[in-house]
Amino acid sequence: MVTYDGYKVFRVPTHQDLEAVKGRISTLNTVSLNLDNKEHLDIAVAPADVTAFEDLGLKTEVLHKDLGADIAVEAAGLGKYPELGQNLIPGLEWFDSYHLYADHAQYFKDLAKAFPKNTEIFSAGTSYHNQDMFGIQLWGKGGKGSKPAVYFHGTVHAREWISTMVVEYITYQLLTNYNEDETVGSILDAYDFYIIPFVNPDGFVYTQTSDRLWRKNRQPRSGSSCIGTDINRNWPYKWSVPGGASTNKCEQTYKGEAEADTPEVKGLLDFTKALTNDKGIKLFIDWHSYGQYILYPWGYDCSLAAPNAKHQDTLAAGLSSKIRESYGTRFRYGGSCEILYATTGDSTDYMTGVAGAELSWTIELTPQSNGGGGFILPASQILPSAKEQWEGMMYLLLAM
Ligand SMILES: [Zn+2]
Repeated sequence: MVTYDGYKVFRVPTHQDLEAVKGRISTLNTVSLNLDNKEHLDIAVAPADVTAFEDLGLKTEVLHKDLGADIAVEAAGLGKYPELGQNLIPGLEWFDSYHLYADHAQYFKDLAKAFPKNTEIFSAGTSYHNQDMFGIQLWGKGGKGSKPAVYFHGTVHAREWISTMVVEYITYQLLTNYNEDETVGSILDAYDFYIIPFVNPDGFVYTQTSDRLWRKNRQPRSGSSCIGTDINRNWPYKWSVPGGASTNKCEQTYKGEAEADTPEVKGLLDFTKALTNDKGIKLFIDWHSYGQYILYPWGYDCSLAAPNAKHQDTLAAGLSSKIRESYGTRFRYGGSCEILYATTGDSTDYMTGVAGAELSWTIELTPQSNGGGGFILPASQILPSAKEQWEGMMYLLLAM
């Protein structure tokens, strides 16, 4: 198990001069936690280097006094599988804690069993370690497969645990309210939902057994001891454009040796093509954390406007204000490259550029900063984070 005991996490303002900050800390043992570092760098500093780091006199904000202690609290909270409630599924207490991979799989099986007329479990392929990339399909009164697709990917990056919980909550709400609530009824009658909670099952399991901050998949590469490819830099669209991913096998955003050379993207490509060739994709969302952003294409080019950019921007603005109504949480929105950073070979560009999705977004969930827990979002924040997204989705799914 990789330990972060005694690691202190700091936010360092970069004022657009990231290289200068990186230069000053280059001799210290640090782990970088954010990629959106135009404005700041969030870094975990190893215990032995904390004093040396503080002696640099950089202006900082302390985000975790002891990252390892916060990870231990989270691990202690992983519950056992709860009793089934009234609907033969776990009740809302499911969202009071994070869960093991096997329990998430069981949760989806129980959902499908409880709502056999509106659901089916499917597989979008297998991961490098042969784990099932399972998903659940939901449909309304038109019957299975009769409507355009609303398509969700969760846990693309292994450490972004909140993304699984949020797509689970949305699934739970759609199913339990379908016959109770007119709005939900009309939404589920209008679309077939395809929800894949774990695009990166190997990485997720690894965060629970070995390294809580793991991001990539677990595929080895010849000629390197470094493991893992960033699944969200491996999609076959504008993959070879430079600047939006790393060619270094040891980096967090390593793009692979060739486009679509990860088993995870290969499986998802076949699955996605089938959706395109059937009723088409109305909305795709890649769920990530953290930062509180709603991002539409493009990732690979900062000056190129998305198709229907004005329409997308209006919907994103509407989603952002709907999210804010629940707890006042602010989500920034805009073109992905323009407001965040350049990415190549990412899923949302592929869905727009190749798969013909009308809307293809990345949502970076709470918190906004590592000060709110970063990837280690406290379990008490699962429900608020999920509820505000559910409210937002009810707006978006009706307005789009
Ligand atoms: Zn991510």
